[in-house]
Amino acid sequence: MDTATVARALAGSSPPAYPRPPNCYLCGSEKMALRFAARAGPTPDRMFCCTSFGHRAHGPIWGCGSCGLLFQWPLPETTALLAAYGAVEDPLYLAEKENRYLTFRKALGLLGPAAGRRLLDVGAYCGYFVDVAREAGFDAEGIELSRWAVGQARQLGLSVRNESIEERARTGVRYDVITMWDVIEHLRDPRRELEACSRLLRPGGRLHVSTVDAGSLVARFLGKRWPWLMDMHLVYFDRATLPVLLAQTGFRVLSRRTYTHTVSAEYLTSKLAASFPPLSSLLGALRRVVPARLPVPVNLGDNMVVSAERI
Ligand SMILES: [Zn+2]
Repeated sequence: MDTATVARALAGSSPPAYPRPPNCYLCGSEKMALRFAARAGPTPDRMFCCTSFGHRAHGPIWGCGSCGLLFQWPLPETTALLAAYGAVEDPLYLAEKENRYLTFRKALGLLGPAAGRRLLDVGAYCGYFVDVAREAGFDAEGIELSRWAVGQARQLGLSVRNESIEERARTGVRYDVITMWDVIEHLRDPRRELEACSRLLRPGGRLHVSTVDAGSLVARFLGKRWPWLMDMHLVYFDRATLPVLLAQTGFRVLSRRTYTHTVSAEYLTSKLAASFPPLSSLLGALRRVVPARLPVPVNLGDNMVVSAERI
């Protein structure tokens, strides 16, 4: 059963009787507590889009009383998840191309000199980061599940394959740098995927992972109103829990920083209206006076990037 079905089936039932996770994905503790009850889901056809507006609609989210990890439970079936991501088509993402490039050019500063280093972008989507890295002098390629997004990347002449990370790891190739921008929170089994990253990196190679930070002040202040609680986000790390998983999978953490996204004023106000419906009329008024394409850097401290070295 997928999490959206669970959310829809259980929304309104009182008291909710959710299936309990047996133990914590990260530390194995049995001290599990329901942190956020399920909320009714978005339109299913856009649920897995990068630009999904299905904020605050999700299955039951549990917290570990020992390590603090938050995760959805029950999880969608692997085959259903792979099929959903494989079928994603997201034209709205193309409209934000210029701002994605601004976001990625800023992120590129974390990677150090290119010097022809071989880079793999995992979950490359339409290939925009691969393009930015290639411009900077990396020998850059990507992998991506969405067949539509791979087609977009190939139209730009980029090397992006329709492959999973485990399929890539089985080829025996080695990279100097792996990037995963806003991908890990979508994974059903992130440990398995980081282990594959470890096999794909040469010793001393670097991994850069960005994700939402469930321990940030904004996340804690907003609680169940935090917009990143979404159906497609299955695991919610923070500055303590992600390094634990990285240590379990053969990495040493080098730095933890906040991550800045640049979006258009139109996109930002639409996202805010979807996340906070009471603000809709105010945001509508704002949209009439602010240029729609105006790039707006957004950093509320609830997105982080963790950089690590393959031991
Ligand atoms: Zn735990």
